[in-house]
Amino acid sequence: MSCFWDSLLSLRERLAKKELSSQELVKHFFERIKEVEPKVRAYITLTEEGALAQAKEADKALAAGENKPLLGIPLAIKDNICIRGVRTTCASRMLENFVPTYNATVIERLRDAGAIFLGKTNLDEFAMGSSTENSAFFPTHNPWDLERVPGGSSGGSAAAVAAGLCAGALGSDTGGSIRQPASFCGVVGLKPTYGRVSRYGLVAFASSLDQIGPLTRTVADTALLLQVIAGPDNRDSTCVDQEVPDYLAALDMDLKGCKVGVPKEYFGQGLSQEVAQAIEASLEVMRDLGLEVKEVSLPHSPYAIAAYYIIAPAEASSNLARYDGVKYGFRAEGKDLLDMYKKTRSQGFGPEVKRRIMIGTYALSAGYYDAYYKKASQVRTLITKDFAEAFKEVDFVLGPVAPSPAFKIGERTADPLEMYLSDIYTISVNLAGIVGLSLPCAFSEKGLPIGLQIMGPHFSEERVLALGHQFERALGLFKQHPGL
Ligand code: GLN
Repeated sequence: MSCFWDSLLSLRERLAKKELSSQELVKHFFERIKEVEPKVRAYITLTEEGALAQAKEADKALAAGENKPLLGIPLAIKDNICIRGVRTTCASRMLENFVPTYNATVIERLRDAGAIFLGKTNLDEFAMGSSTENSAFFPTHNPWDLERVPGGSSGGSAAAVAAGLCAGALGSDTGGSIRQPASFCGVVGLKPTYGRVSRYGLVAFASSLDQIGPLTRTVADTALLLQVIAGPDNRDSTCVDQEVPDYLAALDMDLKGCKVGVPKEYFGQGLSQEVAQAIEASLEVMRDLGLEVKEVSLPHSPYAIAAYYIIAPAEASSNLARYDGVKYGFRAEGKDLLDMYKKTRSQGFGPEVKRRIMIGTYALSAGYYDAYYKKASQVRTLITKDFAEAFKEVDFVLGPVAPSPAFKIGERTADPLEMYLSDIYTISVNLAGIVGLSLPCAFSEKGLPIGLQIMGPHFSEERVLALGHQFERALGLFKQHPGL
């Protein structure tokens, strides 16, 4: 009985038909994890005992004819999202032994929907990075080529989905951390509108940019997970009080005659030939689907990386001030209070996290605030306006997810600026707070997946998912899996 490549929707059907039980399903996934995980290393923590107990409950509920959207289905959760009683490390020494006493809102909602948690997945420390190499524990390997990175920072979640080590997963996206690993691992990933999904219980990196979202094998599965996790939450005041539409029902909406905009700024220097060709070919598919393709301009997009690397570190420097050896996690011994603070932070954080805290603290300091943070905020507004202008003319904006397919482990660790460029096509979406979907559109000559990004205005998830779904069905790439 193979189930590793089943979509969430197909597993749901098989469970309902009693073709297999949730306990069998969970056991099968753990057998697969035992076999494949030593090569991929997607998980930081496995919760086998808890998952089996949850599955037993799910089987009872299934037998009683209960009908919940994710009843008995095993998922993986990025290790910066709190599950009560389960170690949540953020792949940092600082939180190596931190066990939260509460659930994130998304976890509560998944649990209420009947989902089961197999474990917590690897990431770049505090979600800062694009390759999962900044994990304080170990790097994760790309299931399509074990010598390559899975992308980041949600590399563990993307690799787990791609390698058949879970049926679906959650990640978080501050500048591309769901979409870029989804692209590198050949899976679907969604960064919802800022405020669509509660951030309560997501360990904060840059609060005005962070958003939780699904990583799955099909667009329909992403719609299903979003359906469950989205919606207002009185524990997160930035979570918008807006009804959640029926995303699954919207997947087949008629999109003929809709307009797709292709930003001319996205096809310049730095984009690999292979990715450019894959996007060109995708535009043909869009035309075949009955959409009109036209060029648009996002004139301020060349400044997105610079603005992001002021705003995100500024917010991070403030958010990470709480890790002082007193309130959470790791504490080093020191001869007095100040010495304890210093040693805790110098031993607890890795180099990239320290770099961000220093950049952020500098940018926010009294003498430099206007020159850096204020300027970056102004650029952010211009980027937001660029999209608003484009969306007056077109329904979607389409482009690459990342400039190249997955790179080799170690290839970019020496040069942080080169690593930062991995997110050149994803970061503007976070700055503007709009929707970004990444889905496979081609394979490179070396057999590596290449992602297409579909962007839409605030709260256009229904339409973006519908286009993604129709594109995915036209291509059929979701039927391919890495030969691990
Ligand atoms: N790679 C970007 C960074 O390092 C984005 C990370 C993210 O989206 N969490 O900040």
